[in-house]
Amino acid sequence: MTKNYDFDIVVVGGGPAGLSAAWGAARKGVSVAVIEREEAIGQSVRTSGVTWIENTKSIGIPDYYYNKIKSYAFYSPNNYVLKSSSEPHAAVLDVRKTYQFLAYQAANAGTDIFLKTSVTDTLTNEKKKLAGIKASSMKEDLIFHSKLIIDASGFYSIVGKSVGMVSQWRRFGAGAEYEAYVDKIENDTWHLMVGNKYSPAGYAWIFPLGNNKVRIGVGIGKPESQVDATQRLLELLESKPKPINQLGRIVPIEFHYGLIPNEGLRNSLITDNLILVGDSAGQANPLVLEGIRYAIEFGRRAGAIGADAVISGDTSKESLKPYEDSTKKDLSSKLSAAIKVQYRWLGLNDTEWDKELDIINELSVEEFLDFIKADFGLANVLRIAAHHPKLAIRQLFDMIKNARNSINNLQGN
Ligand SMILES: Cc1cc2nc3c(=O)[nH]c(=O)nc-3n(C[C@H](O)[C@H](O)[C@H](O)COP(=O)(O)OP(=O)(O)OC[C@H]3O[C@@H](n4cnc5c(N)ncnc54)[C@H](O)[C@@H]3O)c2cc1C
Repeated sequence: MTKNYDFDIVVVGGGPAGLSAAWGAARKGVSVAVIEREEAIGQSVRTSGVTWIENTKSIGIPDYYYNKIKSYAFYSPNNYVLKSSSEPHAAVLDVRKTYQFLAYQAANAGTDIFLKTSVTDTLTNEKKKLAGIKASSMKEDLIFHSKLIIDASGFYSIVGKSVGMVSQWRRFGAGAEYEAYVDKIENDTWHLMVGNKYSPAGYAWIFPLGNNKVRIGVGIGKPESQVDATQRLLELLESKPKPINQLGRIVPIEFHYGLIPNEGLRNSLITDNLILVGDSAGQANPLVLEGIRYAIEFGRRAGAIGADAVISGDTSKESLKPYEDSTKKDLSSKLSAAIKVQYRWLGLNDTEWDKELDIINELSVEEFLDFIKADFGLANVLRIAAHHPKLAIRQLFDMIKNARNSINNLQGN
């Protein structure tokens, strides 16, 4: 049996992008459904959940949903840097609780959420325009008719692919981690480890969650390396290089695995009756694999602009353009500068990594945080380049400045 539904907007995917898009749209008074294939929001964790306290505050995530970080340790094979600030700036989220918080917000604004329902195909109308999706649940097949679809299906961009708008990402990161009990950890210090023994194309991490709980994992860039992230994680837990050897017993409690696109923004984020958002649109910072705050911010924007289009009676590509234009303006140059830095990092051997840590060590903690956040505003980049006489730092920030400028020129800014 097939059940039919009618919604103004159907959001595919109940991750941070989809839930935020639903909230942004529903609070404008249009009818919204979120379709999520898993049994619960946040059921499979595919992220390490690190974000920034200033963003959690502006989004409204309560502070009992995250652990606060104020020290940032970096390890290369023969070097070590520790940056500390007086106040905490980073946050390690309780991912499941945070995503469910976003779901309750969306539901409170009027969104319906369909769990354990997988989107399988798209529907078109007599003009061959997108007009809904097909889905299946445990009980039945479902058809959702809608004026607008928001594809927030994450890495797989399933609606975008189904209508031939986008293809599979070619460059991406694969990450495996354990949430684990450890005997010894400082709750306010995160650890990033670079160099071949940790990851041949990426980095390993320890992110504390408080109460002797950590996320310990490794990310590996594809296609640069064929090494399997899960296998490398197991090897690291076995060989225990520094600082893993300082944790005492490591008792895994939950395994996480995920893929993240690593190409910057898709060329196009919209077509008639369709918006892409979150990882589906490439809205993640590839330098440190950070996408949650972008998914939420641009999700809310996609929902609000999409709802305006529905209310105006025009959900054509032209009508959705404010979403694409504003997203590109806010993100393109930041992401392309981050990709430039990432290419530089992917080319470093262990000795060069040791030297790169010396460069990082020259930065003040504020500069370091801007850098790691990919907050490459032109003013920041110029300030850092001007304040640091050392040639290596100037070269690094000149490279970032040039990447920014070339994108801005392309966009005519
Ligand atoms: C290993 C790793 C570590 C990361 N660490 C961080 C970090 O520390 N900080 C950070 O900010 N970001 C991190 N990220 C990135 C971050 O997780 C993503 O950028 C973010 O989750 C994107 O959100 P999204 O809503 O676009 O996609 P997702 O979170 O992937 O959500 C997509 C949703 O769509 C659903 N879905 C997919 N297909 C269908 C279908 N056919 N039918 C119905 N539902 C469907 C999925 O079940 C899922 O719930 C990490 C990523 C990886 C892989």
